[in-house]
Amino acid sequence: MKYCLNCDWWTSETDEPAARVRSRRAIEHHVETGHTIDSSEGVVPPQLPDVPHEVFVHDLLPSHSGD
Ligand SMILES: [Zn+2]
Repeated sequence: MKYCLNCDWWTSETDEPAARVRSRRAIEHHVETGHTIDSSEGVVPPQLPDVPHEVFVHDLLPSHSGD
């Protein structure tokens, strides 16, 4: 079971049989809300959330307004 420390969000095997899907949902809740997800069955796999790359690319690209 995975559950949120900041609100009453949670997911368990009875709610979603696939552990992979539960992990994804937990990550999505964290990304959407910034809440902290805890788990009673182990740690969430160390994978980065799906942050739009365009945001970082836009910030990193130098300005070419002079071209
Ligand atoms: Zn939450």
